[in-house]
Amino acid sequence: MLSTMQDGQLSLATLLRHGSTVHAESEIATWTGAGSRRTTFGEVGRRAAQLAHALRGLGVTGDQRVGTFMWNNAEHFEAYVAIPAMGAVLHTLNIRLFPDQLVYVANHAEDHVIIVDGTLVPLLAKQLPRLETVRHVVVTGGDAGALEAPEGVRVHDYEELLAGQPDTFEWPEVDERSAAAMCYTSGTTGDPKGVAYSHRSIWLHSMQVCMSDSMRLAQDDRALAIVPMFHAMSWGLPYAALMVGTSLVMPDRFLQPGPIAEILAAEKPTFAAAVPTIWQGLLQHLEANPQDISHLREVVVGGSAAPPAMMHAFEEEHDVPVLHAWGMTETSPLGSVARPPASATGEEAWRYRYTQGRFPASVQARLIGDDGREMPWDGTSVGELEVRGPWIAASYHGGRSVDPEKFHDGWLRTGDVGTITPDGFLTLTDRAKDVIKSGGEWISSVDLENAVMAHPAVAEAAVIGVPDEKWDERPLVAVVVREGQRVTPEELREFLTGKVAKWQLPENWTFVEEVPKTSVGKFDKKRLRAFHAEGRLD
Ligand code: ADP
Repeated sequence: MLSTMQDGQLSLATLLRHGSTVHAESEIATWTGAGSRRTTFGEVGRRAAQLAHALRGLGVTGDQRVGTFMWNNAEHFEAYVAIPAMGAVLHTLNIRLFPDQLVYVANHAEDHVIIVDGTLVPLLAKQLPRLETVRHVVVTGGDAGALEAPEGVRVHDYEELLAGQPDTFEWPEVDERSAAAMCYTSGTTGDPKGVAYSHRSIWLHSMQVCMSDSMRLAQDDRALAIVPMFHAMSWGLPYAALMVGTSLVMPDRFLQPGPIAEILAAEKPTFAAAVPTIWQGLLQHLEANPQDISHLREVVVGGSAAPPAMMHAFEEEHDVPVLHAWGMTETSPLGSVARPPASATGEEAWRYRYTQGRFPASVQARLIGDDGREMPWDGTSVGELEVRGPWIAASYHGGRSVDPEKFHDGWLRTGDVGTITPDGFLTLTDRAKDVIKSGGEWISSVDLENAVMAHPAVAEAAVIGVPDEKWDERPLVAVVVREGQRVTPEELREFLTGKVAKWQLPENWTFVEEVPKTSVGKFDKKRLRAFHAEGRLD
């Protein structure tokens, strides 16, 4: 029997219409380095219509790709809503990709137009002649004159292009399953792979972001989106904000701890999201420059494991709870969120909060053991995590659907290894490629890192496996010491004693000025391993 319900499409045009009228007063504040410039969702609705007309004028029809090469700012938000709503596909280009990767993804996605921040023109200009399908570049911030276009490419000023365009648009009806936006994984292995989100997946994911046991976004929030809009859709914050009217605070290019502290002081956001390295940096900054940040009702940490010591420092020194979440580009990205069960209090609640969290109803999960069999959810059996659901990728854009490395019987293979408790809490011990295999046993690099980072003299610690004649592999710890502090390997080993199994105690230590980071600020263990192989870590 069919249901008797209506069958409306979950489209971003509907989301835009809703957000720009019902939540017309919600605000977007973009940091300028000294104060914010401001606009509202109502104004974004009008300018999105103008942008859509302008893009039609540049020949964007159907599902053509429009790239963005931008920081988190109001114009990027306009592009986020206008491009999918007009039926085209938003392609967020990661500004920190290596040049060859940038060229690869823009050509692979077949971007027709690229919108670029004036401040990023020099970075894009160098690669522009190699972008085969780009016909138009639109520059924000009045810097179009700074760009010399290669033959066949026209350069436009963003504001001039919008000026005089009608501020309403007949947003087309689109099939909710069609692509709305795409993002390439940062390609720690092989070429970057394109994930194309649908209108439907973004809509459902936005609802999840707002749910109480998730990030709880609501109309009385002001969310500081530090996670870049060019990577994993800023964890879904922009569309979720449009759905419920959360005001957005955008840091633009000001991502160092000092400016983030200034933004916090000026804009008093209630919520913020970033990877652990950003929060570690902010904590250190606040130690030297105390400031009340208790206006933050919560901050979300994900992208790599949140060190427990950092979570405690936020809560105990700054009165800001830290929510740990797990996800990946392929999962839109929200996969799991660590809110403890209502019955857990004190230490028990903390133990839940250290985990990567529980899956929402729409995300199914299973663990696959070394022998290919499904492992039980008993909190101890270890396996590779596989997930599926309406906002999980089923394939990669352009012929990568049959990729046994990543897809398995309709499930996404995450490459993450861990355990799940009977009540559904995921604990990741490692990425499959980072696990250290020592004498036939596995050592979790993440556990060691967390244990070392709990030492008061340690700012950062990254652990990799290095070849060992006797044990195959042993852990090597690269430590960044806090400014003005000193610590020796012996003291660190002593500190770890009793906290990790004796046979796991690392004998290899190296002190570095900084841990190399990936394009999105995670520890870059691939480079760390290369440094070690080149003898640069001795
Ligand atoms: P990449 O880091 O490969 O460029 P993503 O940004 O999509 O790509 O990262 C997804 C990966 O980040 C996950 O597969 C996982 O390894 C790691 N990750 C994300 N969140 C967490 C977390 N809370 N704890 C541990 N690892 C995490």
